[in-house]
Parts: sequence; C-alpha cells; structure tokens
Amino acid sequence: MVKKNNVLRYRINVKGVVQGVGFRPFIYRLAKENRLYGWVLNSSEGVIIEVEGESKNLNLFIKNIKEKAPPMAKIDEISLEEQEPIYYKKFEIKKSVRKKGKYQLVSPDVAICEDCLSELFDKNDRRYLYPFINCTNCGPRFTIIKDMPYDRTNTTMNEFIMCENCQKEYDDPLSRRFHAQPNACSVCGPHIWLVDNKGKLVNNENPIEEASNLLKNKMIIGVKGLGGFQFACDATSNDAVKRMRMRKNRPSKPFAIMVKDVDQVKEICYLNKEEEKLLTGSQKPIVLLERKGKLYKENENNIRVCEQIARNNNYLGVMIPYTPLHYTLLRSFDKPLVMTSGNISEEPIAIENEEAIKRLGHIVDYFLFHNRDIYGRYDDSVTKIFDNKVQMVRRARGYCPYPVKLDYHSKKILAVGPHLKNTYCLADGENAFVSQHIGDLENLETMNHFTSSLSTYKNLFKIEPEIVAYDMHPGYLSTQFAKETNKEVKIAVQHHHAHIASVMAENHLKGKVIGIAFDGTGYGTDETIWGGEFLIADEFGFERVAHFRKVLMPGSEKAIERPYRMAISYLFEVYKNKIFKCKDKETDNIIKKSGKNKLNNKITKDNLNNSEKDKLENKKLYKEDIKNKKSEIYNLFKNDSNKFFKGIRKACRDTELKVIINQLISGFNSPLTSSCGRLFDAVSSLLSISQHNYYEGQAAVELEMVNNESTLESYPFIIRKENYNQSVNNLNKYSIKKDFKANMISENRISKNEKSIVSINKNMIIDTLSIIEGIIADIKKGYKSSYISAKFHNTIIAIISKICEIMYKKFNIKKVVLSGGVFQNNIILNRSFRILREKGFDVFTNFQVPVNDGGISLGQAFVAHHIADKLRV
Ligand SMILES: [Zn+2]
Ligand SMILES: [Zn+2]
Repeated sequence: MVKKNNVLRYRINVKGVVQGVGFRPFIYRLAKENRLYGWVLNSSEGVIIEVEGESKNLNLFIKNIKEKAPPMAKIDEISLEEQEPIYYKKFEIKKSVRKKGKYQLVSPDVAICEDCLSELFDKNDRRYLYPFINCTNCGPRFTIIKDMPYDRTNTTMNEFIMCENCQKEYDDPLSRRFHAQPNACSVCGPHIWLVDNKGKLVNNENPIEEASNLLKNKMIIGVKGLGGFQFACDATSNDAVKRMRMRKNRPSKPFAIMVKDVDQVKEICYLNKEEEKLLTGSQKPIVLLERKGKLYKENENNIRVCEQIARNNNYLGVMIPYTPLHYTLLRSFDKPLVMTSGNISEEPIAIENEEAIKRLGHIVDYFLFHNRDIYGRYDDSVTKIFDNKVQMVRRARGYCPYPVKLDYHSKKILAVGPHLKNTYCLADGENAFVSQHIGDLENLETMNHFTSSLSTYKNLFKIEPEIVAYDMHPGYLSTQFAKETNKEVKIAVQHHHAHIASVMAENHLKGKVIGIAFDGTGYGTDETIWGGEFLIADEFGFERVAHFRKVLMPGSEKAIERPYRMAISYLFEVYKNKIFKCKDKETDNIIKKSGKNKLNNKITKDNLNNSEKDKLENKKLYKEDIKNKKSEIYNLFKNDSNKFFKGIRKACRDTELKVIINQLISGFNSPLTSSCGRLFDAVSSLLSISQHNYYEGQAAVELEMVNNESTLESYPFIIRKENYNQSVNNLNKYSIKKDFKANMISENRISKNEKSIVSINKNMIIDTLSIIEGIIADIKKGYKSSYISAKFHNTIIAIISKICEIMYKKFNIKKVVLSGGVFQNNIILNRSFRILREKGFDVFTNFQVPVNDGGISLGQAFVAHHIADKLRV
C-alpha cells in the first residue's frame, strides 16, 4: 500500500496515432509495472489516462510513455494535469467515449511484425501459415476501416465472429492481440482460394503452394493484397514479364519487384544503411535502389531479375513482403516476383473479387482471392533515400492517412490537386491530410475513386471544408469538380506556385523564397504551358522572375507522347534563324539593353530592334519566307535526320514530318511551352535515346540513365530580358497578389488591370537554343550520347546555379526551394543541392509528399489558407 501523503494523481492526455496500435494495453502494463492505479480510455480526442501513485513512479511512467510506446504509435502531444488524489484501488481499461465533431488520427496499415512472423512459420503455432495473422503491432488498419472509432464493427472484419481462442486473446489486456480488431485464425477468420481468370475454383486446399507452382510455369497471377489487387509473375523470366507487359498495355514503365528478404535484395542491388532501414521498416514501401552489375541472362540459375523488368534503367523498385500472404508466397516461390498494381494503365487498382474478374480477367491467368474485404484502395508507396532522408515518390500504403504536420492553424480546406498523379488534401488545424495516390483523373473510374476516397476522409476526420483550392487549368476534371462544389470561397492556385508551396508547407517555411519549379506541364497565368520556372514565391503569391525560352509543342498532347516532335520543334527554331530573313517569334519580344545590362554579359545574340515598325516588317517577311521555303525546311530536316538524328528519322514518317512542319509554321494546335521536361524530351530524342513517352518522363529518365561520364563541360546558355506585359482575366481570387507584389519587387509596376495577377514587365528568359545548337554540333562531331547527356545535365545545373546567384543579388533571398517532376532526376537533384549549398544557399525540397504532381494538393492548401486568412474569408 502506498502511503497516503505521498500520493499524486495525474490526468494525462495523449494525442497522435494512439488508437488501434496497442496503446491501452501498453499503458495498462506500464501502470502495473510502476505500481500505479487509475484507468485508461480511448476518446475521439485521444487517449486519456488517470494515474495515481508515488511521484518517482509517476515520473518514470510518463517518461516511458514516450520512450517505450508500441511501434505503431505516433505520439504528437502529451499534456498533464495534477489533480487531488482519490485513491484508486486498481488499474483498469475503461470503455471508449465518443465526442461529437472530434477525431483521432488513424494508423496506416503496418507490415507484419517479428512476433507474428515467427508464429507464421512455427509448425506448433495455431496460426502456422495462416495468411491473415496479425496483432496490435501489425496488420491492416486504414484499408479496412469504414468509420471511427476503430472498432471491429466499423471494419470489414465485422462479418467474422471470433472463435473462443481468438476472443480470449482479444479480451486479455496482457495479450499482444488485446483489442486487435482484425484478430483472426484459420478457424474463424478469412481464408484464401485460387481461381482461374473466369472465377472457376481451382484450389481450396493449398492455394499458395499451387499459385507458386503456376508462377514457376510463367503464369500471371492476380493477388488480392492489402490495399488492392497486384499482378505477380516470375521476375527472372523475360517471357513472363513480356506477356505481362503486353497484356497490361505497359510497354516500358519499370515494374516493381518483391524479393524474399534483404539478403536476396543485396544480390541484386546496392543497399546503404538508410535504404536497408527503409526497406525493412514497419511501412515496407517500394524503395528505388541502384542495381548491381549487368542484367542477367535467362536460364542461368541465379536470382537476378530479367531485362524486361526495367529496361534502360539503373534503378529497381524493390520491396520485401509485408503481409503474411506475401511471406508465404515468396517463401514458397523463392525467387523475386514482379509485384505491380492490379490495374489497367492508370486506372485505379481493383479491390473486389467480382470487379477483378471483370476488369482484370484478360490480363491474368489465375487469381488468388480472399474474403477479407478491402475498404480503402491503396497502391504500394514508392520511396527513395535522398540526403539521408526518406523521400516519397508515390505516397499511399503505410503512410496515408498520417497527416503532414503544419506549423499554423489551417482553416478547413479542400485542395483538389492536379490532373496527373492526383492526390487531394484536406487541411484542418495543424493537420494536412494528403490523400493516397489517386491516379490520373482522366476517366470515370479514377474520378469515382477520388470522390469515394474523399468522402471517407471527410467522414473519418470530421472535416467539412469551407474553402476549395484548385489548379488554374480550366480543363482539368479536378478543377471542374472544385467549381461545382457549393463552397463560397474558391481559390485557384497556379501549378508551379503550388509545387513551391508544397515544399514550404512541409518544411515550415514562411516569407520569400527562390522557387525553382521544373516539370513537364502546368498551366501558366499567361495561358501558355509552363514548366521551367524560377519564381520568387511566398505563402500568398509569386513573381515569375525567369523561365526557359518558349517553344511550340506541335500537336499539343502528341508532343508530350512523342519526344521527337519536341526535337523537331527545337530544330525548327535553330533552322529558322538560318533560313529566314526574319527573326523568330520569341525574340520578337526581346528588348535590347545595350551596354548597361547588369544581369549577364553573355547577351551576345541580341541585336534586335524592337520598334513596332520592325515588328510588322518581321511578320510580313516571316509569312513570305515560309511560303517560299517550306520545301527547303522539309528537305533540311530530312537530310539532317538521315545523317545525324537517326532515331527521329525512324520514328517520324515523312507524312508526319510534313504535318509537324505545317503546325510549326502556322502554330495550329501547337501551344507555347517553357517546360523543362519537354527540353529533356527533345534532347533525349536528338540523341536517339528515346522517341516515345510510354510513361510520364520516360525520355528524360532514359537520358539520365545514359549519363555516366564525369565531364565538367557544359553548353553555353544565354540569359535575356523579356518584355512582357500580359494579363489574365478571371483570376481575381488571386488579386491579393497585388499587395504582395507591391511589397516585394519595387521596380515591377502593377498592371492596370485589377484582375491581373502577373504583370511583370521584365523578366529573364533562359535561351535554350544555344544549348540545342551545341548538342547538334556535338552529335555531328560524333560524340557519344553518354558524354552529351552529361554535358546537358551539367548545363541545367549551371542554369540553376547562375539564376540563383542573380536572384540572390537582386532580391537578397537565400532560401532556395526545388520542386517539380524534373527533380526526380537524381543527378539534377543531388548536384543542385550540392552546388547551391556550396554557394551558401539554404536548399529545400519535398520529402513527405512527392516532388512530382502528387505533392501539388498540399501546396494548394497552403496557399489557399494564407490568402483566405489575409482576405479574412
Ligand atoms: Zn504482429
Ligand atoms: Zn479464431
């Protein structure tokens, strides 16, 4: 018995992910160990604990809450209040209480723990080889939750009544399975069976063993996993993988593989300490790893993966098993398996058995079905290690729905995200719930996935948004969705500003930063396509300070799919100066600042007179020229590509070439773009590396992969000043920019047009034509692609470094933010960080959300909050 006068009573409130993670039994045990009395309960606000006892025991107890918390718990906050002792006689776990309008964080799904794993392969355990074994430290969570609180009745486990043994564990506070909601065994729980692709039962007895045999015979199997179906086939067999590529209509995008254990991974890939930690941690995502040596030759008895997995790629997406089902399958098969999302190209991953037969039956030979329903659709997350930290490439299973923590109190905001690689973001208070990877919002299925996932999140986290943020592109389905909502306040956020803002949000940055947003496509405020942008940005708005030279995208979308169209567009710009008397369109806008140009003395080409008269004259000449010289241009293209650009010649037939030239001359269906991604495409095509983007960024990725030279050389680039005075209508929500701008860059006048958000009269153009000219010259000299690719990468890094220097001198800003899909390029990302840090800049990028468009929604939410806050809406 404790002496009465030494007794203290504390009421402790613990917030974070503390429900469904074995937190209460942990507290129960901890209280007993420290001879404390009182109770613990779950509420919709967090876990509430009352403990009474001697102060030294209490202190140890509180210290251990943080230090010894169960592996799945994530504690955000512990608050403490001392109260009068009331002399409890025991410690107990009380019933949960619900408070209206309050929510608790939910744990993401967690990979099988060591304890369950050893039981799984223990012949004497009652769950030996049971593929649904789990406990409070592991197993499904978010994929099976329909509603909160997290009780069995609110999950898809509701229909399974626990047997006596399971119930005993469930009720015992000292058991690892106390209140483990998905608790089950082969007697009472879900089971698996094997069917053919029409749904006819094949094997009920040893379905996993049978599946493993079929895989050995090069069959493709649809495996119902944790967050949806996956396609599995033998990763060492070119035949099997080729068939999968054909049936899935996925000609070249690399496949992820699942490998039995870390030792096997080490035979295939290089693995540093951080990567190993990530690969084997509780999330078990796909990790992008550098592969070892040469690709294997088929029929050699090794476990290296076949060439078809990831052609022209130095990296492999690798994961190790994360569910008991995967463990038993891999143990039986014993070689790496392709394990890729069970969908057709970019459609959502299938989750139901019937749905799978209908949608995926033509792709697979067999299905491994089970009867534990999946409620939340989750792809595998894709990650890598950069700067010794985990960086998201695709954020889903294992990470969602854990929120990104904000350093401000956000209004209730829905940001609907971008078009491709969509995620949405629901922000409220300190939490920004960025959804799992939804996919490309191009079809009804994906749009349905978007809306159903959104209503789940809204329901679970009790967020009814007051403000909707969306992309400026009028044609996006997400934009249309935003406009159709009945919210009063809707805020359009420019694509590249959102990229930069996403980095600011997760790094808790405020105030002005130099924002470098390099990607493929984003709708600009001048209604052209941006993508090679240097911004001065803050939480309210941005200035476009520099961008890549604009070129035409002949055929619009087609130019994205076919990099050779971009190469031809760049070549056309180069030829134009040669053939025509006039100057090209882009240089029309350039003003000469002879003698006193402080920006860059590299301005050499600029000998233009910008008077209106000359402009008209130019236009007239241009039109005449073109009529006369169409065939001349065509022949030039043909001759050059025959000799030097053989890849283009092969990919682009004469008829298409003629169409492209017509488009370039007339501008028909050929928007202007300053995209950095398209520049990479063009270079990749010129070097005959890649002529098609069968997946987003393919040409750029393959261009990166051939770069294996250590040259320090780069191509010359020219920085010009641009005379620019465009305005855009209907963007008045952003008119807050006016203040922002006035404070920011005094020399930039504000446009007369109240609605205008960009009215820069001078900004820098990075003229990339000299780079293309340099590359053409090198190709003609017969230099290797690896050398030219290296030189090109160096050039991009030199541009980043140079523009940052100029911007620093002009605006005295030291923080540089890098975002956009181009920064998935490891060479560009690594070296930009290194060089900018060497120059004294503080450099930031995305880690918690993807640097690609998957991070856009977080940036939209961040900007929308601050604008709304300033406008007091
Ligand atoms: Zn476990
Ligand atoms: Zn049971």
